[in-house]
Amino acid sequence: MKLIFERSIPGHGQTLLPHCDVPEITLDAPGRETPLHLAELSENDLSRHFTELSKQVHGVNCGFYPLGSCTMKYSPKLDEDMAALPGFTDIHPLQPAHTAQGCLHVLHEAAQQLCVITGMDEMTMQPAAGAHGEFTGLLLIKSYHRSRGDDKRTKIIVPDSAHGTNPASASMAGFTIVNVPSRADGCVDLEKLKAAVGDDTAGLMLTNPNTVGLFDKNILEITKIIHDAGGLNYYDGANLNAVMGIVRPGDMGFDVVHVNLHKTFATPHGGGGPGSGPVGCKAFLADFLPGQVVRCADGVYTLSTPEKSIGCVRGFHGNFLVAVKALTYLMMLGREGVPEAARNAVLNANYLMHRIKGSYPPAVDGICMHEFVASMDKAKHEFGVSATDVAKAMLDYGIHPPTMYFPLIVHEALMFEPTETESKATLDETADILLEIMERAKSDPDSLHAAPLTAPIGRPDEVTAARQPVTRYVFEQ
Ligand SMILES: *Cc1c(COP(=O)(O)O)cnc(C)c1O
Repeated sequence: MKLIFERSIPGHGQTLLPHCDVPEITLDAPGRETPLHLAELSENDLSRHFTELSKQVHGVNCGFYPLGSCTMKYSPKLDEDMAALPGFTDIHPLQPAHTAQGCLHVLHEAAQQLCVITGMDEMTMQPAAGAHGEFTGLLLIKSYHRSRGDDKRTKIIVPDSAHGTNPASASMAGFTIVNVPSRADGCVDLEKLKAAVGDDTAGLMLTNPNTVGLFDKNILEITKIIHDAGGLNYYDGANLNAVMGIVRPGDMGFDVVHVNLHKTFATPHGGGGPGSGPVGCKAFLADFLPGQVVRCADGVYTLSTPEKSIGCVRGFHGNFLVAVKALTYLMMLGREGVPEAARNAVLNANYLMHRIKGSYPPAVDGICMHEFVASMDKAKHEFGVSATDVAKAMLDYGIHPPTMYFPLIVHEALMFEPTETESKATLDETADILLEIMERAKSDPDSLHAAPLTAPIGRPDEVTAARQPVTRYVFEQ
């Protein structure tokens, strides 16, 4: 497919402004030295270009998207309708609070409901994504220790199954990372955890269910080990879809939590649109929250900056319209619908796992939560077919591949997260396709090495793409 600049024909652009019929003024300011390089296309060609582009990608609206850890569920269109209401879109963030009561009500209500779900006392809606929430939450932990004069707490403990953003955020927040290994059953090794804590422990970062798709049954003991050592517990809420409305991080011993509105609470994501990673905390940390917090007294909403605020992590109230979508979604589901969605997410993952486990052995035995990890290690040794080969073959069947090679502790990992919004028919169809792919691995492995045959891009050179990315178009002068 041609790039928009390659479709451009000089003189074919659309002129939107009428001819100038007043004397032209030349600005006495330094001008551009190189041309602006705007593509020149008719509106018709422009429309075709972007429609063509949209057909080259796979989204939840095109087909099944079991990308583990990412919760690619269907987002009801009603959320978009609510976020498009002029009362929400035509507002200025600097408007005085008394002229924006409706919007403040939404922010307050969304924060309250998320507090109820997570078991936290206060919530900031400022962070723009999960990783941004992690960074924010770690700054809360840092400020807490500092405020008590406890400056030697410089280490954050992260299990080896953690999402890559956890150690990255801890490092950005100025901490050093201590890794604790998982046991063969996928849970944190308690003895190793006890050996890792000390008076330099600032806290622990953990997601539960973890990235192997298991609920760590020792969670209360884990968070107690950290608390006893004087550290705080951070909950990576990206996997909340498995447990929302059923158990609460606040009751598991966590002090700070982020949630991914764009995963769990129905904002489309993955190359599309803004996200949001609200951070909740227990009351003793609320004074450190960033930005302005919405308060309500006698039905009037006001804004105030917490006393020892870490400052702003983003402009104003973060991605406000994502909060509108999350609140709409929560109100649609209601108190019974939230845990029901979680249960169905877990049921769907177990169903798919069960149907394919004869060919795709799970990394850990037993019942999974909302996702499961299968290992292609054996198939690779026996038939020379890797996790990548299976993922590429799936593209030819119109299914987005699962997450590959994550978590790092499982060799040739394929991580499936079907989500609750898929029907049994879709899961059965996918299971049949996966079983067929494994039959092909046995009888004709080369056909899998050649896949995909139907995708616009087959097997890009991933190393070069990562090491020497070409991110801008070079114009001929
Ligand atoms: C997605 C994810 C994150 C990071 O969230 P972003 O919104 O992508 O920054 C962190 N932890 C886990 C387990 C995740 O799945």
